[in-house]
Amino acid sequence: MTENFTEPENLQVTEPENLQAKYDSIIEKDSKYVMQTYGRQPLVLSEGKGAVVRDIYGKEYIDCVAGIAVNNVGHCHPAVVRAIQAQAEKLIHVSNLYYTEIQAELAEALVSVTGMERVFFCNSGAEAVEAAMKLARLTSGKSSFIAAEHSFHGRTIGSLSVTHKSMYRDPFMPPVSSETTFVPYSDADAIRQAISENTAAVILEPIQGEGGVNIPDPEYLKEVREICDETGTFLIFDEVQTGFGRTGTWFCKDQFGVEPDIMSMAKAIGGGFPMGAIAARDGLSFGRGQHASTFGGGPLACAAALASIEVIKEEGLLKRSKENGAYFMGKLRNMEREDVVEVRGKGLMIGVEIKHPCSKFVDFAREYGVLLNCTSDSVLRLVPPLVITKEQIDTVVDVLEQA
Ligand SMILES: *Cc1c(COP(=O)(O)O)cnc(C)c1O
Repeated sequence: MTENFTEPENLQVTEPENLQAKYDSIIEKDSKYVMQTYGRQPLVLSEGKGAVVRDIYGKEYIDCVAGIAVNNVGHCHPAVVRAIQAQAEKLIHVSNLYYTEIQAELAEALVSVTGMERVFFCNSGAEAVEAAMKLARLTSGKSSFIAAEHSFHGRTIGSLSVTHKSMYRDPFMPPVSSETTFVPYSDADAIRQAISENTAAVILEPIQGEGGVNIPDPEYLKEVREICDETGTFLIFDEVQTGFGRTGTWFCKDQFGVEPDIMSMAKAIGGGFPMGAIAARDGLSFGRGQHASTFGGGPLACAAALASIEVIKEEGLLKRSKENGAYFMGKLRNMEREDVVEVRGKGLMIGVEIKHPCSKFVDFAREYGVLLNCTSDSVLRLVPPLVITKEQIDTVVDVLEQA
C-alpha cells in the first residue's frame, strides 16, 4: 500500500519519544481549546496521497472514510494541488459583485454534469440544503417540507429542520419549518398522504448516507417524482454525499433515471476543498438580491472543483467507482462472518450492517492500518477515494474479516 510520499524530513530525525510528546501536546491543545463536539479517533494525521493517509508517526492507513465521501479523487491529487497553487498566485478571493472566469467555467461544467439549468454557489452541504429550501419556498409560495425518517441534511437550523435524528435536532428546536413532516423512507404512499396545500418541497437523499447507507426501492424516486408532478410540489435531491461519482455515476439520480427540481451538492465537489452548490432545473432561480454568500464560488474553490471534475473524467472514476464497488461488495459478501446482517451499496458507497455496535471494528481496523466509519451504531460506512486499488480493497477486506 506504499504510496509515493515525499519523505517528511522531521520523520527521519525525530526520535520516537519526541513524536509521542508532539502527539500528546496536540491532543492536549485540542482538548483545551477546541469545543469537544467530535468523538475523535486517537490519530493525528499529517499527509495523504491517493487512498492512503499517514499519521505523525509515519504509519500509513487505507482511508475508507475519505473525509466522509469528500476525497473522491484521492488525497492531494496533483492536478487539484496544482490548480489551487496556480489560482492562489493569481486571486484568492474577490466579491461576487464581480465576475471571474474560473467561476463561469465551473458553472458551465456543473450544468453539464448535473443536467440542470443553473447553479448557485455556497460553501458547505448544510448551506446548499438551506439554499434549496429557500429557493423552494420562494418559488412555490408555500412553506412546509416533507423529509424522510433517518434523513441527514446538515446542522444549520434550517437544514436541521429536515434532519430526522432527535439527538441532532431536539436540543435546538423549534425548527424553522414547524411543518416538516417525516415519513418512512422508500414509501411513496406515505409521501402522497403527507403532501398538503402548503408543502413547498419533498427533500430526499437518493441513498441515505448518515442514516446507514439505505438504498430505496428502485421505483421509489420515480413514484415520488410523479406524486410531486401531480400535486405541484418541488422535489429536492440532497446529493451532498452521493455526488461526483460516489455511487458510480456523476449523481445518484442518474441511476434511478429521475430528475429533481433542485439538487444540493458539496462534499466531493472541490476535490477536498470546501464548497457547496445547488443546481436547479429550467426557470427555477433566485432573483437579484434574494440570496448571496460572501465566499460562495470563490476562485480557489472553483479552481479546485474544476480540476477535480476534470480528474473524474480523465481517470474514468465513474467506471472505477462502479467496478471497484462491485468488487468490494462481492468480497465483503463472501466474508465468512456470522455477525454480518447485510452488505449493501452502489458504487463505492457501501454499508456493512452488523449485529452489534461497530465502534470496536473501527478501533481494530485502525490498529491494522485501515480507517473506517461507523454510522447508525451498527453500520460500517465504506466510502473510500474512488482511486482505491483492488489490492487496497483486498487488504481492507482481510482486516475486516479478522476484526
Ligand atoms: C454531509 C451531508 C450534509 C451536510 O454537509 P456539511 O458540509 O457538513 O454541512 C448534508 N446532506 C447530506 C446528505 C450529507 O451527507
